[in-house]
Formats: sequence, structure tokens, C-alpha cells
Amino acid sequence: MKFVIIGGDAAGMSAAMEIYRNVPGAEITSLERGFIYSYGQCGLPYVVDGRISSTKRLIARDVETFRDKYGIDARVGHEVERIDVENQLVTGTQFSGEPFEIAYDKLLIATGADPIMPVKKGAELAGIHKIKTIPGLEDLLADLSPTIEQVTILGGGYIGLEMAETIHACNKKVRLIQRGSQVANILDEELAKHVHDEAKKQGIELLLNTHVEGFEGSSRVERIITNNGVLETDLVIVAAGIKPNTQFLDGTNIALAKNGAIVVNRHLETSVENIYAAGDCATHFHIVKERLDYIPLGTTANKQGRLAGLNMSGKFAPFRGIVGTSIMKFFDLTIATTGINENTAKKLGFDYEAYKFSARHIAGYYPGAQRMYIKIVVQKRDQQLLGAQIVGPAGVDKRIDVFATALYNKMTLPDLLDLDLAYAPPFNGVWDPLQQAARMNGRI
Ligand SMILES: Cc1cc2nc3c(=O)[nH]c(=O)nc-3n(C[C@H](O)[C@H](O)[C@H](O)COP(=O)(O)OP(=O)(O)OC[C@H]3O[C@@H](n4cnc5c(N)ncnc54)[C@H](O)[C@@H]3O)c2cc1C
Repeated sequence: MKFVIIGGDAAGMSAAMEIYRNVPGAEITSLERGFIYSYGQCGLPYVVDGRISSTKRLIARDVETFRDKYGIDARVGHEVERIDVENQLVTGTQFSGEPFEIAYDKLLIATGADPIMPVKKGAELAGIHKIKTIPGLEDLLADLSPTIEQVTILGGGYIGLEMAETIHACNKKVRLIQRGSQVANILDEELAKHVHDEAKKQGIELLLNTHVEGFEGSSRVERIITNNGVLETDLVIVAAGIKPNTQFLDGTNIALAKNGAIVVNRHLETSVENIYAAGDCATHFHIVKERLDYIPLGTTANKQGRLAGLNMSGKFAPFRGIVGTSIMKFFDLTIATTGINENTAKKLGFDYEAYKFSARHIAGYYPGAQRMYIKIVVQKRDQQLLGAQIVGPAGVDKRIDVFATALYNKMTLPDLLDLDLAYAPPFNGVWDPLQQAARMNGRI
């Protein structure tokens, strides 16, 4: 049995390893257009200020390990350009310019997603960077010389916010431009306000409701043209969203969602027989929304990749779905969400109630207690949890994971109150903040 995998990172190589473990003697070929396998993109922002000493530390398993230890034909510099679904062939071009053609019995598309460049004008100028790959980050590090004073970041999602923190730690002036009225769109407005306050406290220049129209400069970027005027800059980082890498599927009848993500079923199968997809190039079933969604994250890519590999190996391994849990650090704040926020509940027509609450992360009388802000959204008729958002300096990670577990198990607010959570004053209040929040509706 010939297994071919396109994409040599989280989803692709998680699948490859499951096939290796479950199909003795499997012939596994992985095709990667780049030269580095299996690395933690999530760690890239933290290499910028040196808290992670080198991009090498982000590599989980290198190409040689896949080849020598696991017998996987792991190829680099192989860009797939076409899938011939009739004849089960994958074709493309090698970095050297040589074409290649490989036959498959089962194929996994795990090509991820690439950052979007939101404007065309001046986009080719030097000094404009995207944060996605190790070579890309090394280009940025080489460009971040002492002569660079003003750095402008486009996009206030998690990559933009993480980069703002680490570029600021390099003693650069940081300006963050966001199209909408708030950063961290995963949050409702009143919680995003805490993020805006933190940006201000740290000296980040935050420009909201600002549209970038183009870049200018002689050979290198010097100015950014926006609807609110022209801004001088020495360097630009673009973190304005991503697009699934599925353009090469044009002409196949593999079904795509509106944004180009590959539609997959619970077994990570596409609409074409023997072709699977996983990770940032694929859709994800959202348990709360009860529909396909697209929330590209490393957690999901690894899970979908593992399950795709098991299904390709002939095992029964359905993907239950995501609840949309994510977390990020922004200076002294932790920002986390799971499920849906009030904006989304409203848009999707849920009959919901929302509660806001603030509490100390440990016993109020214990030294170091700090306040966190929680918002929960529940279904009105039965108080089943639909989502939770938390912002605060400490203790956020522990609570959001309990909320995520509760969402997975379709728990209600009274169920949360019954949870037997750990308590001692250095760790908690006797009623955990999430349980205090659960009592906010006045009925329980
Ligand atoms: C800066 C940054 C920070 C992040 N932080 C977090 C975080 O904190 N938490 C979290 O959960 N997620 C985070 N993520 C997201 C996470 O890294 C991705 O969800 C994950 O890498 C997706 O894995 P993937 O295998 O689906 O795709 P990718 O990692 O994008 O891998 C796809 C691979 O396919 C290759 N490829 C593409 N097209 C072709 C082709 N035609 N032929 C051959 N090869 C091809 C690409 O070169 C790439 O190596 C972060 C991402 C970035 C960029």
C-alpha cells in the first residue's frame, strides 16, 4: 500500500507516524516544498527576543529522523502542483526544476495555510515580513538591525499581539494597526478593552479602525498609506490572516469551503475517494456551532493529522470536533476563549444569556491574588454552556481548560457548580472563579 502525504509539518507528519505505527511495511512518501520538517511555528515569535535561543530548538523531528529511524521517504524541495484523481497520481516540480510524479493508493493533503498580504501596492518592497516559517523568521531577525527604530505590525490577532510583545522586548517602537474597532476578535468588546489597556500600559501605539492602502519607499518600505494618513516606518510585519494552501486543487472535484479550506467528514475524508485532508488546509467540525468551521490551530492540526493517519491505516477513528479553544500571552495578560462569544451567539441566532464576572485567581487573602475577568455565554432554555472568555494576569489557563472540557461534555451551569475542583488558598478560592461566574444568573 502506497501512502503519499503532501506537507511535512504538524498534520502531515502526525499522520505519517500513525501509518508507520499501524501498517507494517507501509510505503510512506511525504512531499514538502520547503526544507524543514515538523517544527513548532507557535514558538517563532519567542525566538525574536531570544527567550527561545534558536529556531533549531523548534524542530521536533528532522528530515533525517523520519528517513533513517522510521523509513519514511521524506522529500524536501518537492512542491505538488497537481493531483490526477482519476489515475491516483501526484505531480509537481522539485526545487532543482526537475518535475516529479508519484502514484498513491491513499493520499493526505496537509498543506496548511499561508499568510495573506492584505494590500498590493508596495507589497514587494524590502522590509515587509510575514511570520510563518523558520527561513521567514530568520530573514526578519537579519533585518531587525539596531538602525530599525519603528516597527509596524498589521493585524491584531494572536500572531500580531505576540509579535508586538517580542519586538517591543527588542527595544523597538511598536505600532499595531487593526482594521476593526478592537484587537483579539475572539473576545467580545468589553473584554478586548483590557487588551487595549495593556497595550497602552506597555507603550504600544494602537491604531484601530485603520485600513492600510499601500506601502511606499525607494527600495525598502519607508511609509504606510492608511485611511488615517501616512505613517513613517522602518519595518513592517504582516499578520493579517491566513488562506488555506489549496489553489493547486483547481480542476479536481475535491469540495472546498468558501474560504478555500478542504471539506472533510468525521473521518477526514474529502469528497474524492482515497484522498484525506487535515490541519490548516481543512475544515473542522465545531461542536458548539454544530457545523463545519475554520479555526486553524496547531492543536487541531495535530489531532486531525493523527486521526487521518489512523483512518488511512484502516482504523475507525472519527474526529469529534473542536470547541474553538485558544489562549495567548500579551505582556502581563493571558487571553483565552473557548466555545462562542456573545457576538457569534447573536450572529448565529442562539437564544442565549451572557454573564460577566471578575474574581481573584487565588484566595483573596493570600499574597499575590490578582483579578481576572470572565464572560460566559449559555443557552437560555437549559443554561448549557456555549462559551467562555477570560482575560487576566494569572490563573486564566487553568479555568479555560475546565470550561473547554465542560463544553465538550455539553455541561450546564449547575453541572459546573457540582465540579469537585482542587482548592487550597495559594491556588484558588473555595468557590473557583468559574463556579462563581456560574452562579451569576441568580438562579443557582
Ligand atoms: C507565528 C505562529 C504562531 C502560532 N501559534 C500558535 C499557538 O500558540 N497555538 C496554536 O494552536 N497554533 C498556533 N499556530 C498555528 C499552528 O502553527 C498551525 O495551526 C499548524 O502549524 C498547522 O499545521 P499544518 O500541518 O496543518 O500546516 P503547516 O504547519 O502550515 O504545514 C503545511 C506544510 O505544507 C507545505 N506545503 C504547502 N503547500 C505545499 C505543496 N503544494 N507541496 C508541498 N508542500 C506544501 C508547507 O511548506 C508546510 O510545511 C501558530 C502559527 C504561527 C505562524
